[in-house]
Amino acid sequence: MTDSHPLEADILLTGGTFVTMNVNRDIVDDGALAIKGSDILWIGSAEAARTEIRASRQIDTRGKLIIPGLINAHSHLAMTLFRGLADDQPLEAWLARIWQVETAFATAENTRVGTQLAVAEMIRGGVTCATDMYWQYATNTEAATAAGFRLVNGPPMIGVDGPTGALTGDLETRAREYIVAHLDDPLLRLCIQVHATYTASEEMLDVAAKLATEFDLLFMTHASESKAEVETVTARFGKTPIEVLYARGLLGPRTLLAHCVHLRDDEIALLQETGTSVAHCPESNLKIGNGIARVPAMLKAGVNVALGTDGAATNNDLDMFGELRTAALLHKGVALDPTVLPAAEAFAMATINGARAVGLSDRLGSLEAGKLADLAVIDLGAPHVTPLYDVYSHLCYAVDKHDVSDVFIHGQQVMADRVLLTLDEEAIKAETHSIARAVAAACNG
Ligand SMILES: [Zn+2]
Repeated sequence: MTDSHPLEADILLTGGTFVTMNVNRDIVDDGALAIKGSDILWIGSAEAARTEIRASRQIDTRGKLIIPGLINAHSHLAMTLFRGLADDQPLEAWLARIWQVETAFATAENTRVGTQLAVAEMIRGGVTCATDMYWQYATNTEAATAAGFRLVNGPPMIGVDGPTGALTGDLETRAREYIVAHLDDPLLRLCIQVHATYTASEEMLDVAAKLATEFDLLFMTHASESKAEVETVTARFGKTPIEVLYARGLLGPRTLLAHCVHLRDDEIALLQETGTSVAHCPESNLKIGNGIARVPAMLKAGVNVALGTDGAATNNDLDMFGELRTAALLHKGVALDPTVLPAAEAFAMATINGARAVGLSDRLGSLEAGKLADLAVIDLGAPHVTPLYDVYSHLCYAVDKHDVSDVFIHGQQVMADRVLLTLDEEAIKAETHSIARAVAAACNG
């Protein structure tokens, strides 16, 4: 590259510390990153950028941390509508209560609002990609991607009819039509999903396996979340949820299982052998009293473990920095060993492991030329992040979601200096309050 022929970029972030999460875990101090279209064009030192990059727009990121956008590997976005509605109950009682409310209130119009609220919350917290599993998935996907947010979503199957008449008609035909129509959506990573082995029919599991193979889709489901679930499934099938999924050909490198709290050693080995990924959701597991997943054992066995918040009705927020801190602390406490799940490894769960879990590690999860420009900028101006010795320590134990100042997804800036650019936050909050008033009236009536 010579001075006379610099690379043409749309945006150049210059100055600050770039936490790449590439294979060498390079950290570039006083770095720069160039974006062209949807992709990262170049990353290097700020000094080299002066001669190598010519950008239409420059953004000064001095004194800040620039990280790959966080990936929320398990959530139910529009459940934000029911945040705090059914707390402090066991999973089964909680599900019964939530399903009742959802049947009345998870209309397409309402879930659009709930999804927008979730996306607003996540962008503010540095999340650039999330998986979703919820009623009205077509509407929700449109709402999230219209806001410039990257979503992993696709037809969900569950053995209750719910607000959408989920059990009516030909499941496979409906799912196939949606998949075929959305294969090329740039912000959508298509998947096929089944709620869980205890809530789905065997036909649903087989349809999911068939479509996942046919279209090379990610398959997502909940697995071994509670003790009761494992007992119910074992009584029904004579196998644990993990064994049921394995027997139906549903474990493999394009499978992402949420929770996996109650696993035996041989089940962990099965996940490793098949290349199955796990979305660890520590706060939801704690809050519903389901227990603590054996994350250090899974990581030691070579299982890819990502991090998720679960829905806002069981967390109760979609804060991946909070989740990261909980995960990094929790397993040390359980193991009575502070060397368990070091900060850098925990941060990998929220970034590159998440990308691997959704089958996009060649495009997401690290700051590298040729990957998609999904990233977050973190302001280090506040007292609680001063001074800085170790970026991973900061990211796990000190940085708060409110420190995120700017967010880019697919090369588009969606938050600038803490202002959301693609969503009308005030309108979304007003609409949410109106829905919540109707929900509260129905619950108290
Ligand atoms: Zn869930």
